Amino acid sequence: MKFSRPIGFAILFMLMVLALVPAAAQDAEVPVLILPVNNAQFLPGARFDFRVEVHADALPENFAVTVNGTSAAEFFGAEPTTESWVFGAKEDGTGGTPSQSVIWRSVVAPAAGDYAVEVTAGATVQLVSWTVRQPGTGTAKNVILFVADGMTVAMLTAARAARGMEQGLPTNRLAIDSFTTIGLASTSSIDSLMADSANTASALNTGHIGSVNATGTYSDTSPDSLDDPRVETFAEMLKRLTGMSIGVVTTADFSDATPAAVWAHGRNRGDGNRAAYLVQALESGVVDVLMGGGARRMLPQTAEGSRRQDDRDLFAEYEAAGFTIVTSATEMSTAMGADALPAKLLGVFTPSDMNVWLDRNVYTENLGDFTDQPGLVDMTLAALNVLGQNEDGFYLQVEAASVDKQMHPLDQERALSDLIEFDKAIEAAVAWVQENAPDTMIVITADHGHGYDVYGTVKVDQFNEATDDASRRAAIDVYGGAGYPTYSDVDGDGFPDWSADVVFAGAVNNHPDYTEDFQVSPIPRSPGIANDSGVIIDNPEDDPNGIPISGNLDQGSSTGVHTLQDVPVFASGPGAECLAGLYHQREVFFCMAAALGLDPSAQ
Ligand SMILES: [Zn+2]
Repeated sequence: MKFSRPIGFAILFMLMVLALVPAAAQDAEVPVLILPVNNAQFLPGARFDFRVEVHADALPENFAVTVNGTSAAEFFGAEPTTESWVFGAKEDGTGGTPSQSVIWRSVVAPAAGDYAVEVTAGATVQLVSWTVRQPGTGTAKNVILFVADGMTVAMLTAARAARGMEQGLPTNRLAIDSFTTIGLASTSSIDSLMADSANTASALNTGHIGSVNATGTYSDTSPDSLDDPRVETFAEMLKRLTGMSIGVVTTADFSDATPAAVWAHGRNRGDGNRAAYLVQALESGVVDVLMGGGARRMLPQTAEGSRRQDDRDLFAEYEAAGFTIVTSATEMSTAMGADALPAKLLGVFTPSDMNVWLDRNVYTENLGDFTDQPGLVDMTLAALNVLGQNEDGFYLQVEAASVDKQMHPLDQERALSDLIEFDKAIEAAVAWVQENAPDTMIVITADHGHGYDVYGTVKVDQFNEATDDASRRAAIDVYGGAGYPTYSDVDGDGFPDWSADVVFAGAVNNHPDYTEDFQVSPIPRSPGIANDSGVIIDNPEDDPNGIPISGNLDQGSSTGVHTLQDVPVFASGPGAECLAGLYHQREVFFCMAAALGLDPSAQ
């Protein structure tokens, strides 16, 4: 998704204010941007940056910022830093809007209560409200947050059904099915009803709703995408205030949005910021266990395939900081079998995102040189065993990244297999917790959804023998005609064998022009490709025998995109009941903090 700046708010606020101010004063109206935004919520004692932008050539003489009527400088006990820049200029440097900013870095959220922040600039008086919430008093020792990127209820239903059904009932339920505290979380951004993984994973990890593509920050208009006002993450608070350890496990490149949201701060998801996020993890000391792909962002720019723009060798720097580094499943298992477990563990198993379960276990020719990657279950258990050494407890975020990464290219079998692998990691964690740490809160959710669902079944032989589209479509059965798919599970590993006579008629509700044959693809899918003019058209090599489906996205989109639906939340352990009901996903942060009894103002 494209990066967007919060100019929209400024204009919106200006219009709101215009409506309130007498006509004679309107000439002197100026757009004002206040970050954190209206309705932001905090824990008392949490740290954050407070920026005010005035979009004018100079700060008006009457410029003033107050909190509950007291000057902000007095309220926060510090003078702000003044900065200015021009944003939105054309490529030739002309045009653009000047911005005058004041910023207070790392101020401390006050005691619980409501706070009115008022900015006066010329004839503009702009008000936002912040709420500082009462901290909880829970007694959980550890928190594990499982995030299946892009997971929806429909995908869980499909994964469960693919494992077998008889007369309307599943024969092999998921581990997730045994969680009894269930909620629904909405995922919208402050600048859009749609969301990406950066701002949604940040909402889970900070309690603040951000702008699309922003991690642990409120997006400002400044030229530097790493200087935007920060909000403290859950992991940063735990590291600053408690002796807890922090772990991050993902099947993505670990500089990707969801893992990075545990510790990182930046406005966009470009290469420069992702390289910086891995430096932030190291220099802040927040992360003790980090596992996934991403070697190309660890290596200096001189190394082949590096995506860094500097000469830092992060492998050497992490090692110097005390991390045991493992780069294969074998090395990980050796490290975990040693008499003394590592105190800090860095697992880097692929240059970029890790391969998906279906390719690691069935279509292994797709792995290239990286044939010895651990799965999500083994990574989760390794992280738990390392983190579990800490008497003071831990926070671990585990991400199944490729539910999303495979739903984007409409690959239902790869996405659902990774969802089942996610479920197995949860099953393993539940058993680990029962044995080692029953006072652990487990939360399971998605950062956002995808528009996938099953609407019937397809008779594969009939579909493949058809010579025209009408006959192919006649092989799709719905309602009573659909019966059940015939996926088997010969080795009983809980993962369906996707090659079957009757398969899901499953589809994603947004896509480029493409063709669909509903059958497992031996290579990862790429349904749309660019033609010579850069327009995305059906990829003739992807499902060449499929039915043609007209695109409903702009012609620059080669894959599907995220959708609006609320995502499921499951929870167990101390404090779990906080997550029953329907809420914005920022509640996950407040519930995790409450479960631990985290009160940053007391510690
Ligand atoms: Zn996505």
